[in-house]
Formats: sequence, structure tokens, C-alpha cells
Amino acid sequence: MNFVPKPNDIAGIIEADRAHVWHHLSQHKQYETSDPPIMIEGKGLRIWDAKGREYLDAVAGGVWTVNVGYGRESIANAVRDQLVKLNYFAGAAGSEPGARFAQKLIEKMPGLTRVYYSNSGSEANEKVFKMVRQISARHHGGRKSKILFRERDYHGTTIAVLAACGQPQRAEQYGPFPEGFVEVPHCLEYRNQYPDAEDYGLAAANAIEDVILREGPDTVGLLCLEPITAGGGVITPPKGYWERVQEICRKYEVLLHIDEVVCGLGRTGTWFGYQQYGVKPDFVTMAKGVASGYAAISCTVTTEAVFEMFKDNPSDPMSYFRDISTYGGCLAGPAAALENMRIIEDEGLLANTVSMGERLDGNLRALMEKHRVVGDVRGKGLFYGAELVADRTTKEPLAEAKVAAVVAKCREHGVIIGMTNRSLPGLNNTLCLSPGLIATPDDIDTITSAIDRALAEVCG
Ligand code: PMP
Repeated sequence: MNFVPKPNDIAGIIEADRAHVWHHLSQHKQYETSDPPIMIEGKGLRIWDAKGREYLDAVAGGVWTVNVGYGRESIANAVRDQLVKLNYFAGAAGSEPGARFAQKLIEKMPGLTRVYYSNSGSEANEKVFKMVRQISARHHGGRKSKILFRERDYHGTTIAVLAACGQPQRAEQYGPFPEGFVEVPHCLEYRNQYPDAEDYGLAAANAIEDVILREGPDTVGLLCLEPITAGGGVITPPKGYWERVQEICRKYEVLLHIDEVVCGLGRTGTWFGYQQYGVKPDFVTMAKGVASGYAAISCTVTTEAVFEMFKDNPSDPMSYFRDISTYGGCLAGPAAALENMRIIEDEGLLANTVSMGERLDGNLRALMEKHRVVGDVRGKGLFYGAELVADRTTKEPLAEAKVAAVVAKCREHGVIIGMTNRSLPGLNNTLCLSPGLIATPDDIDTITSAIDRALAEVCG
């Protein structure tokens, strides 16, 4: 497969795009003098742009999404068949693919029993916030309504979830925000905030307890965390962190919400990121990998105990979860998700993610030996970050423009990688890698060779 563009078509697409499309996360001034990027076709991990250039995509569609790779006809067929049979009915009614996917998903998530459908990660997270606020209103006299989130974590783009954003550059200029959101410190050992503590994992978790005690445990309803922080720098939790976090949540009766929008559906080599750490969450949200970008679907998953709290007084018209998501009723989502999950299982993609992740880890550590600019390498499975620094001793971050130049060079060499950007002032210095879970040894080596070359060219 190779996309061969026809010159007239390309010019037409580019002009229509330039005239009418507002790209996500983009400063458009640049496209007055250069062509906007436009992607046309994909197969496996390969993608072709409007000019016919081929790339190896090392970031699963740019933002950790296309876990099973491009061009999956079986998913397209499953979606087509479902749409022809029944495309939509509002989510107050159940559906065949919705029931089947929920059952299959719950098999992978011991301790959790209920799936609530919507269509984006932001929305799935906001559902949790609404559920917790309603539990507080109905069971705690409205007091236990505060939501804790962590420095450097991200939970989505709408105003309510931006109120729970630990990346200041994402939230800046979009306030005022709703009340009752409180930040807890990050847990990145490479930038240890507790140098005197004997046990970093414990100290970082105890910092959450300090916040709960400061705010008053009877006012805190939820702790919302990414299992491994994604866009905030690919932060793997330090040893002992999650065990202590779980203890703290139990002690103060704070519900625990894990945002698996990035890690969900195999990215780290287990079905979910939290399963790497033996955590027992009250809520899990997921989106990107659920249907690998073949349809819009997100899920808010919770326990029977939480679900029961919305059934306790059926004669009260305000007792149930009064929420809807129009496109949570579009059946393309669960139809695609079912087939996506079948592919992950039948093709052994969790095992592949583990072994390719080990290769990626090894290759990146070799780059760290070779290039002083690579200060830290962190990750799990096919989810990695390499933090770039101007000085290894002081850990001064490499300037964002230089990190961006490394990313641009990789693209010139035919490999699309990502970086943390527009998130943390002065700390947008981590290269991000998350190829599809179908990556082969050759793909992994091609990715790290491109980075090797780009680092040499940009940083010497
Ligand atoms: N949570 C995390 C951890 C994310 O990375 C993202 C998106 N990058 C979201 C939530 C929001 O998902 P969406 O863009 O689908 O609303």
C-alpha cells in the first residue's frame, strides 16, 4: 500500500483546509506561508500525508490512540454492519453491542461492574466528577464534594475538567473555573521534591494525605490520578506510591478515580495501567484506545457499591444519575470497541507490548549512554518518555524549541514522535513515544535510530 497523490486533488484539499479548518493545538499564522499537515491514508503503523510522504507513526495517531494500527478492515466492517442494523438510540435504552462490550470489558476489570458510555475522555472524566458531587449531595449533606487532582496530570479539555488540570499552560486564560478542585504534588522521582525523605514513593503519597488533612477529610470526595502521567512528562509512579495512595483513600473514605484515557486497553502491557500496581479503584475512565480511533467512544466504569448509591430511594426523582451523552448512544462506538478488543486478544498484543516495550526501553537507555542530553528514560510497555536536559548535573530542562527541533528532525527522517507541549512552563522537554501495540522489532529500531540521528543533528 502506498498513497500516490494526484496534484489537483492535493491543491484542492490544502486550499479548502487552509480556508476553512481550524486545527487543534495549532498556531495558524505558520500556515499562511507553509502548507498545513494533512493525513490521507494509513496501514499498520505507516501513514501517508497529502503529499504522498510516508511516515512511521510512533505516537499512535499523534495522541496515544490507534492501539491496533491503521487500516483494520474488520473494525470498519463491524461498524458498518452495526450502523446498517441500528446506528443509534439514546443511551437511556441498552443495545446489543453496548451490552456485549460492557460484559467483555468487565471481565478484564475485577472489582468493577458498571459501564457508562459517552464519547470523549473529557466527558468520561466529568461524569465521575458529577457522580461524586451527587453522592456528596445525597449522602454527605453536600460536604464531601472536593476533587483532588495531581500536579502534571491532565484530564481533558472542557472547562470543568480543566479545573482539575495539573498542567498550568493548558488551563491558562480559560478561567474562571468551577470551585472545589485542589491540587496535590506530582510524583516524578527524577525531579524529587523530597530530597531528605528516605523513601520517595512514600513521601510523594504522603503529600496527598497532607492535602486531605489540610482541606478536612470530610470535605474531600475524590482523588483523580493518571496511572502513569502521560502529557505531563510520562511519569511512572515511584515504588510503594500506589500502595500508600490506596491506604490513604481508604482511611479518609475518598473515592479513587484512575484516568486510563491513555493507558487503557493495553498500552502498558496489561489491559489497564492500574493493574501494573495492584490498585483497586472506585472509578476508571477510558477513551482513546477503547476503539483505537475507529469510532468515538469513552467509558466511565465503576463499582456496584457506587451504582447502588443511585438506586437507594427510587421515589425521590432526584436520586438517580441525571446525565446523558447524545453520542454515548451511537452504536458505532461499542461495535468498534468489541472488535478492537478481540484483535488485542487474538493477536496477543498485550504480550507483544511487553516484549516490544523491553526493546524500546533498552534502545532508549542506549541513547541515554550516548547522548548527554537524555537525562531520564521512563515508561512501561509501549508508553515511553525521554526527558531532555541541557545539563545532566543541574537537570536544567532543554529549551522547548530544541526539543521541538528534535521532533521535527525525526519527522524529516520519516518518523513521527511526540513531545510534552503547552503543559508545564519551562518543562516541556520530554519526548513521547507510544507506537501501536502491533509494533515489530524493526519498527522499534527504526524509531530509536531516527531519534539517535535527530539528537546528534540538533544537540551535537
Ligand atoms: N485524560 C487523559 C489522561 C488524556 O491524555 C486526555 C487526552 N489527551 C484526556 C483525558 C481527554 O480526552 P479527550 O481529548 O478524548 O477528551
